Formats: sequence, C-alpha cells, structure tokens
Amino acid sequence: MKCKVCTSKKIYEVIDLGRQPLANKYPKNKYEIIKEKKYKLKVFFCKKCKASQIKKIVNRNILFEDYYYLSSVNKKLKEHFENLSLKLKKFDFVVDIGSNDGILLSPLKKLNINSIGIDPSKNVGEIANKKGLKTFIGFFDKRMVEKILKQYQKPDLIVASSVVTHLENPILFSKNIKKFIKKDGTLIIEIEYLQNFLKNIEYERFYFDRPFYYSAHSIKELFKNVGMKLFDIEKIDVHGGSLRFYIKNSLNCKITKRCEKILNNEKQNLNLSIFNLFNKKIYKHSKYLKDQLIKFKQNNQNVIGYGCPARVSTITNFSKISSDLIKFIIDDSPLKQNRFTPGMHIKILPRKNNLSNIDVVIVFAYEYFKDIKKIFKNKNVIFFKPIPFNKLL
Ligand SMILES: [Zn+2]
Repeated sequence: MKCKVCTSKKIYEVIDLGRQPLANKYPKNKYEIIKEKKYKLKVFFCKKCKASQIKKIVNRNILFEDYYYLSSVNKKLKEHFENLSLKLKKFDFVVDIGSNDGILLSPLKKLNINSIGIDPSKNVGEIANKKGLKTFIGFFDKRMVEKILKQYQKPDLIVASSVVTHLENPILFSKNIKKFIKKDGTLIIEIEYLQNFLKNIEYERFYFDRPFYYSAHSIKELFKNVGMKLFDIEKIDVHGGSLRFYIKNSLNCKITKRCEKILNNEKQNLNLSIFNLFNKKIYKHSKYLKDQLIKFKQNNQNVIGYGCPARVSTITNFSKISSDLIKFIIDDSPLKQNRFTPGMHIKILPRKNNLSNIDVVIVFAYEYFKDIKKIFKNKNVIFFKPIPFNKLL
C-alpha cells in the first residue's frame, strides 16, 4: 500500500476500529437493517508526509447520494464564514468548492465579491441557486474545471472548507486545482486538525465519509508536488479546533512564523509512537464508557443519548453499545427521527414526549451541551460526554 497523499510506501496501520457501518446512513426499518453493510475501519499513518488515512474508500456516490446537511442551519458555522468573507475583499474572483447551501457565497455576494460555488449534492446546490448564488452541481474534477473555464476567468482565490478530508483521490484534486487557479492565485483549505483528535482522544472523528486526516506536513507535501507552496496557517475554532491553510500558486513566497511553528511542532510530536499511545487510550476509554453504562443499568437508572451525529456510529460500534444500555437517542433533525443508529440500531426519537423519567444523558452532540441542558426541566438528570467519559456541568 502507498500513501495516497505523497505516494510513499512508509505507511503503517495505527488504529483498528473494527467492522463499522457507514456513519451517516440511518436505517429506517428491518429491511434496511438487513441490507446494511460493514467494512473494516483501519487507520494508517504515513511516516513521510504525516497524513493518516483509511484504507477502505467507499464509493463517493453512495455516500453523497442523499445528503441533507445544510451548513447555514448551524449558527456558529454561519458566523465563521461571514468572518472569512471579510478577509477576501482584495480578490477579484472567488470559487468555493463544497459550497453547500451558499454559506460563504451569501456573505461574499453582500460584499460585492464576484464568486461561484461547486457542490456535489443536487438538492443542496439547488437551494443556493434559488437564492441567486451561482452553484455548479457536481464533483470538482477535470470536467468541472473545463466547464467553468469556458464561462469564467481563472479564480485568484479558491476556498475548500471541510472538503479535502472527504476526497477519494487527493493527488488528483491538487492537479485539478493547479489547472484551475490563476498564476499567483491563493488556495485556502480548512480542515479539522489531526493533532487535536489525538490530543482529545477523539477516535469518533474517524469514519468512512472522511478517508483523510491531514497534518500541516501533508498539506505542504500534497501541493508542493504541483508547484504550489504552503505559506501560512491560522488556527480557527470551528469543529473542535481546525486549521486554515494558505497555499500560493507560486514557489516565490515567504513562509510565516506561525506556519513554521506548527510544522516544527509536528516534526517533534507527530509520529508512530503518538498513535500507539492513542490506540491504547481508545480501548481504555471505550471500556470505561461501557462499564459505566452497565453500572447505570444495574442501578436501574434510565439512560438515553442526546444528538445523533456520525460519531455515534463510530463510538457505539467500537464499544459495542446497543439499546440494551442506551434506551434511545434524541435528535432534533426530523430526517433522523424514527430511524436507527448505524450498526447498533438504537432508536432515534424526537424530544417531544420523550423527556420524562430520565436519569442519565450521554451527550453525543457535546458542542451544544449548553442548549441541550436547558431542554431538561428535571434538575436531577446527570449529563456525560461519552469519550473521554466525563461529567458535564
Ligand atoms: Zn504520505
């Protein structure tokens, strides 16, 4: 096996999360449960570029055929893109790859910055188009680049936020960027940062929708190979700690101090032994979570979950937690309600009529804990973050 970011053969298995279903496919009924597929979820680490990646790549069409996540519903994310738009005033033409429902295009339009988007989900892209935010529907590939360049000039800024982690072929992506971007143009990439997953023991961030988990080194290497240069990195606080990379279509630019600092830190701290340590920790913490749930059950305490994002699947399948230990999970999205969690098939319910007689809540959507806590009128309910298992106050 070769690294799909830098083609090195120095790539090693570091985490085995067992057999896992697709974390964003919620079966509706018995028939869909029988049809559900599971694959081995193994994470590898490349010693050369310091990227980690999942070996099994599930066909992107299967993953994104019915995608219902609308970014603009998320208030924090909306604010994040409004702030980003303010930094982009000096650019002539901006292309947003993975533009979703126009969460960045919309503030750009307000600032009169010329921009278009590209998004693979038809239903989501059409929402943006209806708002007058020009969106090309389809994957960002060679054909898409040719199609856009027939109608538009080359962009001097390309944004790809939460996109590169989902790619099937990062090298092809970098080559298409190179073809597309103007000479001296800038590429902005935003990713959830691998080092933060490791630090916070967030093994739940690994699932098949996202085969790549980048370090600054791996982003640098990926674009160096097409003649582009990583020159700046900003720390941003979305998705539990992310990085914003600035990459120039030119090799003549100076690297900032903060960029160098992050690269140096990785040189010292991001290696195979860190992953070995992480691997031991996730077994320990998963066992602890399950042991606590068993204790609650023995004490006849009623336990439910709150929030059913993709991470529920990774945690419950790895820790083997079913409705025997978590009675049901409440989620506020009507698209998930009355379905089952992937793999372990815990029922997902709306909050209406389901909030009484509850003793313990495992908060899977822990970013929203403050809002979730307010929903429960009974002050004796206790709340926990699943991994690491901690009481939330
Ligand atoms: Zn590599």
